[in-house]
Amino acid sequence: MGDIPFSCTCGTVNGRLVDIDKKAGSRITCYCKDCQTAAHALGRSDLLNARGGSDIYQTTPAHIRIDEGATHVACLRLSPKGLMRWYAECCNTPLFNTLPSPKLCFSGVLVHTVAEEARDPLGPLTAETFTEGATGEGPPVRKYGFARTGFNIMRRHLRAKLGRAATMAPFFDADGAATCTPRVLTLEERNAACPD
Ligand SMILES: [Zn+2]
Ligand SMILES: [Zn+2]
Repeated sequence: MGDIPFSCTCGTVNGRLVDIDKKAGSRITCYCKDCQTAAHALGRSDLLNARGGSDIYQTTPAHIRIDEGATHVACLRLSPKGLMRWYAECCNTPLFNTLPSPKLCFSGVLVHTVAEEARDPLGPLTAETFTEGATGEGPPVRKYGFARTGFNIMRRHLRAKLGRAATMAPFFDADGAATCTPRVLTLEERNAACPD
């Protein structure tokens, strides 16, 4: 069990993933168009892998502490119903994803915020999802682990509720209100950022 430092590219927003053990979360790579669109909209397609994938550590908000730069954390949504995509506005680094409501104890941490040599405690890759969205040259990306991903999200949610680690900070306050007002892309902005 230990803490793992994370930060945005420029270092203004930084913090720790705390109490990370095997049960705390699992790593996936997502190739969906929305994750790619969000990276493009922020001008950070450099953070996608060669096939357009985003490496995400799925965990619960109780494992996330922002130590510095919290006022630079902003939120983007691709549509009025889309996921909340939290990012550092200082350098447009995508940081976390959450659902739009605080009902599910879920958050995804973008693994590019963790230095490569510090990633071991996050465990091995357990799923590659929406691989039909993969871009670039090469053989089809193999899809696996999607059902297990959903199961793990529910298991961690229930464990957080039972263990009273159901806090949604730093994303939502105790009344369930988001800690910043998301910017919702217009349809034009969204289409411009969507990879074909
Ligand atoms: Zn930054
Ligand atoms: Zn995705």
